[in-house]
Order: sequence, then structure tokens, then C-alpha cells
Amino acid sequence: MSNSGAVCSPVAITAKLRRYARHLVLPEIGEAGQTKLLASSVLVIGAGGLGSAALAYMSASGIGRLGIVEHDRVELSNLQRQILFECSDVGRAKTEAARDRIEEINDDCLVELFQYKLTPDNARDLIKRFDIVVDGSDNFDTRFAVADACLKEQKPLISAAISGFSAQLSTFKPYLSAAHPCYRCLVPEKPEREITCEQEGIVGPLAGIMGSYQALEVIKELLGIGESLSGFLLVIDALTQTTRKSALPRDPSCSHC
Ligand SMILES: [Zn+2]
Repeated sequence: MSNSGAVCSPVAITAKLRRYARHLVLPEIGEAGQTKLLASSVLVIGAGGLGSAALAYMSASGIGRLGIVEHDRVELSNLQRQILFECSDVGRAKTEAARDRIEEINDDCLVELFQYKLTPDNARDLIKRFDIVVDGSDNFDTRFAVADACLKEQKPLISAAISGFSAQLSTFKPYLSAAHPCYRCLVPEKPEREITCEQEGIVGPLAGIMGSYQALEVIKELLGIGESLSGFLLVIDALTQTTRKSALPRDPSCSHC
């Protein structure tokens, strides 16, 4: 088992077998699946609450290359839910703090940093270099730019959003067939008044749950195992512990897909 064709010594191979032992024993992953994960790449939009958890689990799981698009710095109010960062990171660029933490989690993982805002102008160039995209952004302008670029570049998009104690999750692969909706089928237009997480709050662990869900769906999509969430929407109410998975059909009037 090797990452990107690198030659591994017997000692390094033994270490890899031990590191990923709980994956290797799973019939759905095994050595072939782990080798595929090590050769895979994922672009994460935003190193916030969702991105932190998704990046932590994807790096630990042995995704070989992770790209991080993030222009912010770590603030004290981030530490309540953004588990990649610690007190000493406050004031640092989130990209650099995230890379340092990921390298401590797993040195099999190559990290690429993009310390700027994703826009409709740069989105396609960024996204085309990765196998799959995780959207952990917190605003509709970015979500639309990511979704439109993923559709054009034919990349699977794992999208999650949180508000207070509620969250939703879906996968978008509208380029496959008319059975698969795009993000704009779910959210056709930006809401008239966009409320930020600063205004409405987020319960910390829910960010970790949803980011972990995103990492899990990435592994499933990369390996083609289980049932894809494309065409479905998972809605979670953390206060009542209700999880509802419902069909999300394509909107016949959607002008994007
Ligand atoms: Zn659509």
C-alpha cells in the first residue's frame, strides 16, 4: 500500500497496515479501498465548524490530498466548535493552523492551502483539481458558486448546513442523470434576509456531527459503497433527536440542471 506511488520500506508498510487496521478489516473498504482513499483528493470549502470535523476525520481516514479554501483567521469565538484549533491558534490564519494540526494527525496526508475567498471566477479552477468537494461554507454566495462549479466540472458535492440545533445534509451529482437534483433544486434563490451563524448561533457538537457525516459520505462516494445521498435530503433536529431522510427530486423548473 503506497501513497501517490511513493516507495515504502517494510517498516513503513507495517505502520500503514496498523494505522488503517480498522478500515482494512471492513469488507467495504479493505486494502483496495484504503489504497484508493490514499490516492484520492478532496477540496474543503471553509475551515469552520463543519470543515474542522470533516478535515480531522478525512485526514485520520487516510485521504491522500486535502485542499482547504479559507481566508479567515482563528477567533476566540471559533473554539466552541471548530475542533481543529486550540487557544494558541487565535490570530493565526485558519489554513496554516489547520495544516499544522492535520500533519500531526496523519503525515500520509498532503495539505494544499488556498488562502482566499472562493468566488464564481476562481471556483472552477480550484474544483477541477480535486476528486470531490465538501462544502462547509456559511453563506449562500459561496454555496452557489461551489455548487455551480461542481455541476460544470462534474464533481460530487457533499453539502451540509447548520442553524442552531438543526442541520441538513445532501450529496449533489446532477451531471449523472435527470434523477439527480442540483443544489439549486433545493435552494433556488438566496433568501431575502440572510441570517449569519453569528446572529443565530450553533450548538457546538452539531457542527462536529455534520462535518463527520460529510467525511463519511466522502468515503462512501470515493469507494462507491452503500447508498449515495444524491436525490435525498437528511434533516436533523438535535433537540428532539429526530433524523429524517426524504427524497429530494430534481425541480423540473430549475434553470441550472
Ligand atoms: Zn437543479
